[in-house]
Amino acid sequence: MRGSLPIKITTLVMALFIMAIMAIMAGCAEQKELEKQSQSTDELFRKRASIMHTNVSVTVAAGSSEQADKAIEAAFSKIRELEGLLSFWTEDSEIAAINRNAGKKAVRVSAPTLEILERAMEISDWTDGAFDATVGPVIRQWDFNEQTLPEPEALKAALDKVDYRALEIDTENSTAYLGRPEMSFDTGGIAKGFAADAAIDVLKAQGISAALVSVSGDIRAYGRKPDGTEWRVGIKNPRSDDPNSFIASLSLNDEAISTSGDYERFFIKDGRRYHHILDPRTGQPAEGSMSVTVIADSATYTDGLSTGIFVMGPEKGIKVLEEHGFQGVLIGADGETYITGGLAGRLRMKKK
Ligand code: ADP
Ligand code: MG
Repeated sequence: MRGSLPIKITTLVMALFIMAIMAIMAGCAEQKELEKQSQSTDELFRKRASIMHTNVSVTVAAGSSEQADKAIEAAFSKIRELEGLLSFWTEDSEIAAINRNAGKKAVRVSAPTLEILERAMEISDWTDGAFDATVGPVIRQWDFNEQTLPEPEALKAALDKVDYRALEIDTENSTAYLGRPEMSFDTGGIAKGFAADAAIDVLKAQGISAALVSVSGDIRAYGRKPDGTEWRVGIKNPRSDDPNSFIASLSLNDEAISTSGDYERFFIKDGRRYHHILDPRTGQPAEGSMSVTVIADSATYTDGLSTGIFVMGPEKGIKVLEEHGFQGVLIGADGETYITGGLAGRLRMKKK
């Protein structure tokens, strides 16, 4: 339509302006105002914050904005506290202390740190090491901002330090020990789900009847919305630039969902896609998958498993999920979609 062009440009300028404002707001610790979303007796309130270097959003059903605000702030505080304990990138976290003392001595840690280590080990066992959070030394060889490839020698040396079986956890004394020097535990593949679980516990303790927490792509929800409907989430189309393009959607019934994709953090060099989910056996970006979505009771499991199953590829991955009673939607590198049996009738597929 001829006459629409100036409007489109104006819309584009407006969009850029809004994006600039949003970028500034994202820089602030959090977006202050509560968004009122529904008009029934209990209402939905949502608030966002930037924690763990990512977008955290908490939506709750509550009787008043004060009740909602108190509960949401308590959930944010919990996630900030966990960030302080679990960050791989800062020097003062408990994870950093474990890494600094690799090959030297066991480190006393608090209950959440011990728990995330245990969950990570469990997921490594289930995925036969495809999920291996001791990939830390290898992760440090990759720079997705600079878009440079690691030096082969340095990558090889880093690979020698990857082995989840060398992590010793002593639950009685509450200590953790990485058995070889220069090993390093990277919480990046599991911490966001763990944070979502912890935030949900806080909201429940605050008496909130229904909520949805999303920490980046790791989401957990419980209860029903005030209008009686379930929380519905979409599974992204891994090859669309539109963040709102979904291949399917499903309702969460006191469950968590996580997606790991090769489109989250990547660069293309010489026609090849290099992304942030690494195969712990080669140190290279895993090749078998485009996107892996996992559904389970706990976001810690969905987060870690989506990363690990991504590495395994859909054929082996689907077996592992079914073996342990988890659900998933796996898209192979060839674009083929695989779905676990338990999701039959639950997925609403979008037309292509
Ligand atoms: P996102 O961080 O985009 O949500 P994931 O949950 O899949 O994606 O986690 C990817 C992160 O997990 C990487 O940035 C890295 O820190 C870590 N990681 C990469 N490969 C592995 C792996 N094979 N096992 C465990 N952690 C991994
Ligand atoms: Mg993950």
